[in-house]
Order: sequence, then C-alpha cells, then structure tokens
Amino acid sequence: MPKISRSKLAEQTWNALNEAFPDSACSLDFDLPERLAVRGILSAQCTDKRVNLTSKELFEKYPDMRSVADASDEEIAAVIKPCGLTASKTASVKDFASRMVNEWGGVIPNDVDELMKVRGIGRKIANLIVGEIYRTPAVVVDTHCKRVMKRIGITDSDEPAKVEKDIMKVFEEDKWIAIGHLSVDLGRTYCKAQSPDCWACPLSDFCRRRI
Ligand code: SF4
Repeated sequence: MPKISRSKLAEQTWNALNEAFPDSACSLDFDLPERLAVRGILSAQCTDKRVNLTSKELFEKYPDMRSVADASDEEIAAVIKPCGLTASKTASVKDFASRMVNEWGGVIPNDVDELMKVRGIGRKIANLIVGEIYRTPAVVVDTHCKRVMKRIGITDSDEPAKVEKDIMKVFEEDKWIAIGHLSVDLGRTYCKAQSPDCWACPLSDFCRRRI
C-alpha cells in the first residue's frame, strides 16, 4: 500500500467513520451537566452501560450535588460499587460535588485545568466534560481511541497526551469531539483489542495496521 500523509489519512478516516457511524455520540446518559460529569468520573475502567445503570440509582437517592456532597462516603460507595474502583471514585464524586456547592456556585467550569484539580479527574474526563457540556473543542483519548489511532497510523504513541496532540494536529478543531466518539464506535465494532475484524472494517483500504 503506498504511504499517504497523516492529513490525508485523517481525511479518509473522518469520511469512513462518519459514513459507518452516522449516529455516533457519547454513550453516557446526559440529563443534567453535573450528572454527566459524575458519570464521566464513574466511567474509568467501567462500561458506559454499567455507569448509566448505576448513576440512575445514585441520582434517585441523591438528586442534586448538595445531597451528594452531604452524603457520607459509605453511602455513596454503597451505590457506586458496581462501577469498581470504589474508594477512589467515591472520593472523586464527593470532591466534585462539594466544589460544585462550595466553590463553583453550581456551575461547572468550562476549564480543563480547573476541573483537573478535582481529585481523580484527569485530562480525559476533563476533556469529556468541557466537550460534551460546553462543546469546547477537546479530544477524549480513551482506551479505544488510543488503540485505533495507532493502528490506523494517526499516531505512533501509546501515551494519551501525545495521542491527543497528534489527533489535534491532523483533524480540524470542529472534529475533535466527534472523533473521540467515532473512535469508540470503531473500537467496539471492528477494531477490538483482541482480533480486530479488518475484513469487515470500513477503514481497511487505507489503515496502516490492516491484517
Ligand atoms: S483495518 Fe483492522 S486494524 Fe485497521 S482500523 Fe480496521 S479493524 Fe482496526
């Protein structure tokens, strides 16, 4: 296969993914911004399906950030346990809720650096929050995005911060939010971690890793 530039590769990737997944979107439930942020926190190493189920129960018991902040660690942990990493996610959810109540006046900051001050919120979740809530251009590099972008040839790195930069170099800013979701769709449907289905994959004509 002749070598093509990364920008050409990005263009082909964008077109093929949009054709394959025209309804691509964030798969976390989004009713209220603060609830989406909590779901983002719960999503670390957990499926979005599980997060949506567990958060439904959480917000039935604790419908707003004040009630989350006022609940004890044990009470929150008992509900979010199915999402795993219980102690760290409890600390993170509680820290987020108390900043909402005590520091941010109930408004989530549209600021990645400010959000990353919350215990347990890293760049991936901060980007998810500003992207989904404010449509601020930001790339969410999760495990699917990292894997598929390297296989396709958009990046040579396994390091999320570098993958994010490489994506930002070749995709226009107005594509950054969507390319994260499209990568997840590709990773779940064809480009699975074990045994990617390259024969059926819509990127197989130009993907670097095609097997
Ligand atoms: S062709 Fe294969 S390796 Fe490339 S993106 Fe598709 S499934 Fe993944």
